[in-house]
Amino acid sequence: MEVLLEAKNVKKHFPIRKGLLSRVVANVKAVDDVSLTVHRGETLGLVGESGCGKSTLGRTMIRLYEPTAGEIRFNGRDFTTLKGGELRRARKNIQMIFQDPYASLDPRMTVGQILRQPFEIHGLLGSAAREAKVLDLLKIVGLKPSHVNRYPHEFSGGQRQRISIARAIALEPEMIICDEPVSALDVSIQAQILNLLKDLQDRLKLTYIFVSHDLSVIEHVCDRIAVMYLGKIVEVATREELFKNPKHPYTQALIAAIPRVGEGKRKIKKSLGGEVPSPINPPSGCYFHPRCPHATEKCRTQTPKLEGSLHEVSCWLY
Ligand code: SF4
Repeated sequence: MEVLLEAKNVKKHFPIRKGLLSRVVANVKAVDDVSLTVHRGETLGLVGESGCGKSTLGRTMIRLYEPTAGEIRFNGRDFTTLKGGELRRARKNIQMIFQDPYASLDPRMTVGQILRQPFEIHGLLGSAAREAKVLDLLKIVGLKPSHVNRYPHEFSGGQRQRISIARAIALEPEMIICDEPVSALDVSIQAQILNLLKDLQDRLKLTYIFVSHDLSVIEHVCDRIAVMYLGKIVEVATREELFKNPKHPYTQALIAAIPRVGEGKRKIKKSLGGEVPSPINPPSGCYFHPRCPHATEKCRTQTPKLEGSLHEVSCWLY
């Protein structure tokens, strides 16, 4: 399978500064030495509890956040060192959809202006062709030509996410990072947006990184799944393999917490006990050891590596 994006030892640390001189007193290790490959045409899920670093990793991949360390290669090219016009041109190929479409759409711009903007920024198409393209984009995402002169606040949450999707596909990217794209929507609307994303993937040959805290949504849309805990990837496998044979105790707890028909929502905290430790001062050894029912002395002092070929896991049990 062709590799489209490859992250090698990527870190994203946010410094905490104090005092008059703004000295760095600590770092929030939001992404801590992550290596990952994404294959062309697949949907790779990034899943974990809130605060595990999955959204930060998504934003670092597209360089909305500059990585603290590591390398990101896109189409075989080092994406981390690109600057100015080169970076802008490369970014045409990686777009992002955010959780809150209202916050990501400028409320002062009409839908037409929002969808014309990518072409204006990159100096693409004449004005007549841009107008035709905007109408085409609206049709592709299930909106009407009459919506072109309306403002984001005139739409429902689901329609606003359709506008975000139209903007994301405008420049015909190869990859879209979908950051919790349905978490803010009603359950009845979620399926429509997920189906739209699937249709667009087939039609436009898109590759997705799909970030979500909700393993049942991830199960529905992803081909492969990477599980994150406290800034690190702890397990990667195909969807079938991960659900049939989850190896990491954290993945097992996430799967056990998926609500089943007739049951209320089960909380991951209840099944594991305790909170996610602070990424400012993560535990020694395996970061998961304070919550792991199988932790041994080795787990408390030595950090396991992510290992395996088709099914990777970082745990001393394997
Ligand atoms: Fe649990 Fe140890 Fe495996 Fe970490 S390495 S997940 S603490 S058994």
